[in-house]
Amino acid sequence: TETLHIVGGGMAGSEAAWQAAQMGVRVIIHEMRPKVGTFAHKTGDLAEMVCSNSFRSDDDEQNAVGLLHWEMRAADGLIIDSAHRHRLPAGGALAVDRDPFAATVTERLRAHPNISISYEEIDTLPDSGNWVFATGPLTSTALGQAIRAETGAEALAFFDAIAPIVHFESIDMSQAWMQSRYDKGDTEEERTAYLNCPMDRETYEAFIDALLAADKTEFHEGETAGYFDGCLPIEVMAERGRETLRHGPMKPVGLTNPHQPDIKAHAVVQLRRDNALGTLYNMVGFQTKMRYGAQTEVFRMIPGLENARFARLGGIHRNTFINSPTLLDDRMRLKARPNIRFAGQITGVEGYVESAAMGLLVGRMAAADLIGHQIAPPPPTTATGALVTHITGGAEAKTFQPMNVNFGLFPPVEGLKGGRRGRRDRYKAYTDRAKADWQRWLHQTDDEQAAAP
Ligand code: FAD
Repeated sequence: TETLHIVGGGMAGSEAAWQAAQMGVRVIIHEMRPKVGTFAHKTGDLAEMVCSNSFRSDDDEQNAVGLLHWEMRAADGLIIDSAHRHRLPAGGALAVDRDPFAATVTERLRAHPNISISYEEIDTLPDSGNWVFATGPLTSTALGQAIRAETGAEALAFFDAIAPIVHFESIDMSQAWMQSRYDKGDTEEERTAYLNCPMDRETYEAFIDALLAADKTEFHEGETAGYFDGCLPIEVMAERGRETLRHGPMKPVGLTNPHQPDIKAHAVVQLRRDNALGTLYNMVGFQTKMRYGAQTEVFRMIPGLENARFARLGGIHRNTFINSPTLLDDRMRLKARPNIRFAGQITGVEGYVESAAMGLLVGRMAAADLIGHQIAPPPPTTATGALVTHITGGAEAKTFQPMNVNFGLFPPVEGLKGGRRGRRDRYKAYTDRAKADWQRWLHQTDDEQAAAP
């Protein structure tokens, strides 16, 4: 069979290489380090953890990341297995001893008879051959330019600007309401795309004080060099003047609060539906560099969000990622050039675990193509399937920003109690369903797949 070329030996590329090689395909990993470095990587090892040493929760019954761990273990994942081999005590989290972890991944890939590693930078999207690009958030400048030339500037970002995302079910709709500004939109779907939280003057002033006082994070050294295009964090807007937000993302115009039709709001926070399921809403214009603890505290001051649960908090980082909803098909191939796949954080997932999971999936799909099998995408009821469904279809393309795995991406389990009390049962039901569906997907034979609808 033909060779599979994998560009980038990070979390995703390492896992993709392992999966494809285990399926009998010859793999070449092209890794630019240590010849070419990044501002965050410090070694020449594959699968280097650049920052925190945590794979987050290992709870596979109550946590979506833990479920992703479970799915990768069930699929013979190299990254998750190596992480477990070098586990450090950390309660329910999977903390990892990073140097031996990366050394183990590197050695196991090097020792694999189907894998070779070529230490070089790739700076084009080749016209022929089978390629997986897994070059991550810090994709080299030359390759970034080549990708941009292929996708257009609109479809490749060099920074993320993530506004917090809230679980719809945690929003108090006795205070918030659905309405698009000036009732724009022809369809019911468009009119219900926005959700509004009103503020009176006193709440607004207290909110501004809290924003100004909140703990912020700084950019890493070298992170903004030549890239940052000035997407302002909300707290920086507040620093420019106490009224700036009221004239910007929090302007109260074109909206009527049905709970208090006679009172004009002093300011309004708008949230926009973030996925087709309608389970997630993002806070429009609320990209921020406040620390996570400060974010939950400050944002729960917003009327209607007092009990908000956040599917993800806001952030602004150097992050190269493509607009997957428009560019990729459901098998992670570039629609315009199906010999090229993308995997890992560059596809718009976020985090070590999510990136490794996308590598696992793409490695299997690419290898299956080469050996003449067909693999259907995993069902959206699994953690891997929910993520890939989100980035290649479920997410709003226009406002696409990187996503962590979370239960808001899963199709709801019917017939279970809502609210805080039902949550344990609900999450257990999600994870039980996911495990059964994942096992079925893993063990599907070609014939079963051909017969599937
Ligand atoms: P990477 O792991 O970055 O791997 C990409 C590989 O491609 C690298 O080895 C790189 O050298 C190589 N490469 C790039 N361009 C080329 C090229 N042209 N040719 C050949 N090789 C190339 N995630 C967390 O879960 N927790 C955190 O605390 C965290 N902190 C972070 C802090 C920073 C500063 C950054 C930048 C990221 C952080 N992340 C964190 C995200 C995490 O790094 C990614 O989710 C994960 O590493 C992505 O895996 P990947 O395989 O897609 O990319």
